Amino acid sequence: MYRIFVTREWPGDLLSRLEADRYSVEIWPEYTAPPSEVLRARAATCDVIVTTVEDRIDASVIEAGARSLRAITQAGVGVDNIDLDAAASFGIPVTNAPDVLTDATADLAFALMTAAARRIVEGDRYVRDGRWSTWHPSLLLGKALKGATVGVVGLGRIGFAFAERCRGFDMKVLYTARTEKPAAAMHGWRFAPLDKVLSQSDFVSLHVPLTNETRGLIGARTLSLMQPGSVIINTARGPVVDTPALVDALRVGRPGFAALDVTEPEPLPPTHDLLTLSNVIVTPHIGSSDHPSRSAMIRLAIENLRSILEGSGPLNPVGHSSPQSAV
Ligand code: NAP
Repeated sequence: MYRIFVTREWPGDLLSRLEADRYSVEIWPEYTAPPSEVLRARAATCDVIVTTVEDRIDASVIEAGARSLRAITQAGVGVDNIDLDAAASFGIPVTNAPDVLTDATADLAFALMTAAARRIVEGDRYVRDGRWSTWHPSLLLGKALKGATVGVVGLGRIGFAFAERCRGFDMKVLYTARTEKPAAAMHGWRFAPLDKVLSQSDFVSLHVPLTNETRGLIGARTLSLMQPGSVIINTARGPVVDTPALVDALRVGRPGFAALDVTEPEPLPPTHDLLTLSNVIVTPHIGSSDHPSRSAMIRLAIENLRSILEGSGPLNPVGHSSPQSAV
């Protein structure tokens, strides 16, 4: 019987169905991630660990599982929490769950952009604080989406889906990635280097994976290129942005607003400098949090582990052998 350790409880009954099918499934019962010592202990005794973004699968966990682990299956697309070099050196395959959360994450990035542009969170606070005394022509003036330029940093699955939503709102799309995308030209989206994307956009949305190259990609120098009053949206990973530099930049209004689903650190403490600023909105890393996506993420993680354990190999490999290497 294969032993599977799942680091979180997931909605739906897919894990209990796995259990009924000659797998022994242990689900970590707590709301927060298992500590390192638990991960090491389970790695040493299980065939597969099903992980999520907050589980630090570092070299010590992988080394502990050197003899037992036959796969690490991440129920999400980003794998920056997993030491892929260590996994490769012990020959442990790592898989992820791409595509199934693309629309959900693009939806949230678009929602954050709209919320920032039209000051929705500020408006809600205004009403709750009892400050709504009259209609006034200059109350909570915002930015228009139609005709504005949106810069997409990383035109992969999610960046592309986000840009499609922007097209529906008659926005002009500028994008950057490692390589130019022929499909983008068909929509009239223009490729440009990062500096140009930042300096020419009214809105900038980040969609790159966290890698050695993208860590701190948005820092003091690159933030200073952004237009005064522009909006930055981050649904990628917190460390893609240098947070102290972002705080400084927001204090002088360049950019004028940040809408963040991911931060560094995570979770963001309520006393953090970012939360002292009125030109910031933060959601708690909920990019993929809609019902269909969460079911599909755990389903794909299970399909990957079944495929590996039953000898057919990984369906969604990541790492050095994968074309979609994230780290
Ligand atoms: P993807 O399809 O692999 O797209 C990534 C894009 O980033 C590609 O266009 C890639 O360019 C570009 N890129 C990579 N390195 C770059 C660099 N150094 N400079 C410029 N561009 C670079 O990935 P995805 O499925 O869209 O997911 C993107 C990320 O979103 C994930 O890795 C994850 O961290 C994050 N995410 C967050 C949430 C959330 O809950 N907030 C949910 C899902 C995903 P090329 O195509 O030219 O290689």
